[in-house]
Amino acid sequence: MIQLTEEQDMIRKTVRKLAEEKLAPIAVRIDKAGEFSRDVVELFEEYDLLRLKLPKKYGGLETDHTTYYLVIEEIARVCASSSMLVATQGSCLTSLLVSVNKEQEERFFGRLGKGNVIMSWALTEPGAGSDVGSMRTRAVLNGDHYIINGSKCFITAGGVADIYTTFVRTGSGQGTKGLSGFVVEKDTPGFNIGKIEDKLGMRGSQTTELIFEDARVSKENLLGREGGGWSILMESIKETRLGIASQALGIAQGALDYATRYSKERVQFGRPISENQGIQFMLADMKIQVEASRALIYQTASMLDRGIRDILPYAAMAKCMASDTAMRVTTDAVQILGGYGYMKDHPVERMMRDAKSTQITEGTNQIQRMIIARSMLK
Ligand SMILES: Cc1cc2nc3c(=O)[nH]c(=O)nc-3n(C[C@H](O)[C@H](O)[C@H](O)COP(=O)(O)OP(=O)(O)OC[C@H]3O[C@@H](n4cnc5c(N)ncnc54)[C@H](O)[C@@H]3O)c2cc1C
Repeated sequence: MIQLTEEQDMIRKTVRKLAEEKLAPIAVRIDKAGEFSRDVVELFEEYDLLRLKLPKKYGGLETDHTTYYLVIEEIARVCASSSMLVATQGSCLTSLLVSVNKEQEERFFGRLGKGNVIMSWALTEPGAGSDVGSMRTRAVLNGDHYIINGSKCFITAGGVADIYTTFVRTGSGQGTKGLSGFVVEKDTPGFNIGKIEDKLGMRGSQTTELIFEDARVSKENLLGREGGGWSILMESIKETRLGIASQALGIAQGALDYATRYSKERVQFGRPISENQGIQFMLADMKIQVEASRALIYQTASMLDRGIRDILPYAAMAKCMASDTAMRVTTDAVQILGGYGYMKDHPVERMMRDAKSTQITEGTNQIQRMIIARSMLK
């Protein structure tokens, strides 16, 4: 349905093959162990998937937005946990792309271009989830360094990443006005990894607390101007929400493909269960929702590719639509497999657990609906 260019189609096929042949066995293993695996990083490095958005000048692929979302979708179709790595890498790079000065560009992008650099995006705090403006972690300038105190929670790639794009409070500004973005290096004195979360889904993606106790971050690592964190966040978040939407779409597509195949093979009452209209209608409803989500995501991605930046409500619609679809479609996929769907021998129960996260991360779907309604009523 979506018209891809020859290059986009080639990249989609390459990533699908890689995911089906090499990632599928890893997906089962990391979900079962509830552990992140460096094997995924090695695989993605081999295919340059952690440098998709990085400018070519620094050794990146500098893909268009559509290609970037296609890659996330194809990875999530097989292993949603691993797609977290690519989506988070993209979120961080977007924040950097909209904020770095010339010196930072060369320092950070130069490092990223050499490979094997994982990034993490740290915003959420125990007392500040949806209400970002109530963030309390604070950075105070002291000579050439900012001293950071506080903590972050639920941070993807915590303990795995080399660079943490971190948003904290500075100065006297209240609410969203006093936020600033920093690059925090993993070996920063006073910066430590706290609790590693034991999660329902996305179990192959490590999620942790970050602890800042008089952490000393060079003032050269401040992104943009002090107090300018909210505008960096707003510029990045519209793109990064489409990343979670694409992840949700991939999960839904993976579950739909699996359930469709299974329904043609499973025989009850002397014929494949797919010959029952009750199952056919379920499959058709799943397909309608998946294609509607895809249309919304790629329409919004093509706006970005055409240089249209005013996409906030569309990104919110795509995120809501795709993640609600992922939850419904994966639940129906488990239903189509019956008791087998509930067992860990088939991937649909994992997909159902992974899907739940997409309704929560990068702003819950209630927050997305608030954004959509505000844009309608203003
Ligand atoms: C797997 C996973 C990975 C994550 N990775 C990261 C990461 O890498 N970096 C990062 O910074 N964060 C990350 N998060 C955190 C995530 O972004 C937050 O969990 C999310 O923004 C919600 O915040 P909260 O959990 O504090 O929920 P709360 O804000 O406490 O919300 C609780 C409930 O209240 C609802 N609610 C809140 N306010 C309103 C309102 N005004 N109107 C209606 N309903 C409302 C919410 O929708 C939700 O249902 C991750 C979370 C998960 C689950």
